[in-house]
Order: sequence, then C-alpha cells, then structure tokens
Amino acid sequence: MSNIKLEIINLRKEYGDLVAVDDLSLSVEQGETMALLGPSGCGKSTTLNMIVGLEQPTSGDILIDGKSVINTPSGKRNVGLVFQDYAVFTNMTVEKNLAYGLRVRKEPKDKIASEVLRVADFMCLSDKIDRKPSELSASELQRVAIGRTLVTNPDILLLDEPLSNLEADDRNRMRRELRSIQAETGQTVIYVTHDQIEALSLAHRIAVMNFGHLMQYDTAENVYQHPQNKFVGSFLGNPPMNFVKGVLRKEGDRIFIQNGDSSLPVPTDIGSKIENNSGLIAGFRPETLTVTSNEEDFSFSAEVLAVEPQGPESVVTAKFGDTQVKVVVPSESESATDGNKLNLMPNFDLLALFDPDSGMRLMKHGG
Ligand code: ADP
Repeated sequence: MSNIKLEIINLRKEYGDLVAVDDLSLSVEQGETMALLGPSGCGKSTTLNMIVGLEQPTSGDILIDGKSVINTPSGKRNVGLVFQDYAVFTNMTVEKNLAYGLRVRKEPKDKIASEVLRVADFMCLSDKIDRKPSELSASELQRVAIGRTLVTNPDILLLDEPLSNLEADDRNRMRRELRSIQAETGQTVIYVTHDQIEALSLAHRIAVMNFGHLMQYDTAENVYQHPQNKFVGSFLGNPPMNFVKGVLRKEGDRIFIQNGDSSLPVPTDIGSKIENNSGLIAGFRPETLTVTSNEEDFSFSAEVLAVEPQGPESVVTAKFGDTQVKVVVPSESESATDGNKLNLMPNFDLLALFDPDSGMRLMKHGG
C-alpha cells in the first residue's frame, strides 16, 4: 500500500499575469514533516492555501490519500491550518477553544471532554484550561492554536510560519515541542517558513521555492550539502555557500579552475568529465574548507581580508582571484589574521560545480 499522504501534481496558480506557483509537483509521506521554504513572495502561502482549499488552482491536481480534493470544499478536506497569528477565540477559555472543532462536528460530550484533556495534557496546557487567551503568553497561545487543530485529528496539519511571532527563547522551545508532537503523534505536517534554521531543524524533507518554482525537493541534509542549483546553495547556510567563477583548465594530469591569476585544484575524477576551457562556477560551503599548515596538492591559497569572531568559531573573509570567499575556522586559529595567506583545502565530496548561465548543478561528485 502506498504511504503517500499528499500528492501535488503540476500545480499552477495565476493571479492575472502573475504566476504565483508554477508547475509544482511533489509528494509527502504519511508521518513526514515537509517544509516549504523560500523568500517572501515565492509562493509558499499560495501553495498552502490551495492544499487547504482557500484558493482554487488555475490547473493541476492535489491528492490526499490518493483522492483528488480539488473539488472538495475547504471544510470537508480534513486538513488543519494554523496561522502565524494564532487564530484562537479570545472570548473563550482554553478548554472551549480546544473543544470547538469537536463541538462543531457534534461529537458526543464525553468524547469531547476526554479528547480535550488528552490534547491539553499533550500541549502542556492542563493547568491553563480555565484561562482566557488574554492571560496566556505568546507560546501558550500558539500551543492552544495548534492543540485546537490537533484535537480534530486532521489528515494533514498545515502550519503557516507558526513561530514567527515568538521571542527567540519561546521559538526554540516551540521548535522542540513541535518536533516531539510530530514524533509522538506521527502526524503528517506541512510547515511554511522563510527561516532556514526552522526548516533544517524540523523537516524531514524541504521544498525550496523561488518565484513560484520548486528549486529542490529533498531531505534536509541533501538540500544543505548537495544543492542542485546556485539559488539553493545561496539561500541556505549562514554564511551562504561560496561561489567561485572560473574556467576549467587541464594541464597534463592537473585540472584546476582558473580565476584571474588564482587557481583552484580539482580532483581528476571530477574534472576529467568536463570539457577543457568550460566556464563554470565552483560552490563550496565556508565550513567545508580546512586550513592546512603547508601547501598541499589540492589546497589553494587565499589572503585574509577580515576576521569576524563568533564565539568558538570565526568567519574569515579571504581573497581568492577576483572573488571573496568565506571560511569558518576555530577562533584560536593563529593563521587567521589580516593580510596572512591561508592554505585552504576543500572537502571535494561536497564541492559543487554549476553551469554559469543556468546556475544548475553540472554533476555530482563521482556522478
Ligand atoms: P509567500 O507565502 O512565499 O510569501 P505568497 O504565496 O503569499 O508568497 O505570494 C506569491 C506571489 O503571489 C506574490 O508575488 C504575491 O504578491 C502574489 N499573490 C498572493 N496572493 C495574491 C492575491 N490574492 N492576488 C494577487 N496576487 C497575490
């Protein structure tokens, strides 16, 4: 039996001339948390609203448990949406808020009471059950909003930037709580965020979007470590991926990327599959470079321009050819001082080569 809970097929949404979501296809398995991640305006909320049924797609299909819901009204889809501004009824106690969805469904009173107690306990709200929303903190309000939805046992729980109104401490706590809710209930969750840390820490899989397009859909680890295009490499990571534009040169058995008068060595198993003199962009994350004490066969040299200490690590900006690259080094590293030359060794397993015109990844290491 298929484990796919949600399937989105060639989904498109136009608002006049604007294409808010363009040919989006992906599937989410039962019990998975999927994050829709991307900058403001990339089409995350529009996608969510189409799943919920608040927006009708221009074309394409949405299947829940293998059945199209395109013609099913929002109220009948059994999906639960929680907004960022915790839509709770301000005149009702926590208990009444939690019970609301089951009352609307006219469930028996004893079932409502036991489900409310179960969810209140689960959401750590048992001692707040008689309080009004005005007496609750922001994170408690958010727990009421999520609990109110969970109590109705939705097929899919949809969370739209649920942590964006919380202070940093509450946000971290809610992140942990959301992870445990997900693990304990096995609830399928779709999570909309523009915050990469939230997506990386909560989601099994991440759909990275830009201008309505799906840029990559993969595990959190793969979108971070193996971006399929420059956009994903630059959107994730702080500091983001380094990009060095250059030309591939083959001289005897040496292969390197030439940038101005600097050269970045490339192992032959990667470089030999690419034509000599091809223009390309090398991408490597700041934390995948290691400072070596001597020049090595595959190291390259870069001059330190600035060092920003950040506790145990420092972010070094160094000049390589006509490009600046960032390197994350341990703060006690003595070689990381302004004007010094660093020998840097990339982790070639994580080096990405991109087409300079399309920004798409040319090939995977060993691929
Ligand atoms: P996100 O949630 O990623 O910030 P949205 O899905 O809200 O992005 O918006 C995607 C694009 O669609 C944006 O350019 C936005 O201005 C546009 N858009 C969203 N809703 C409407 C609407 N009701 N009418 C016209 N344009 C809209």
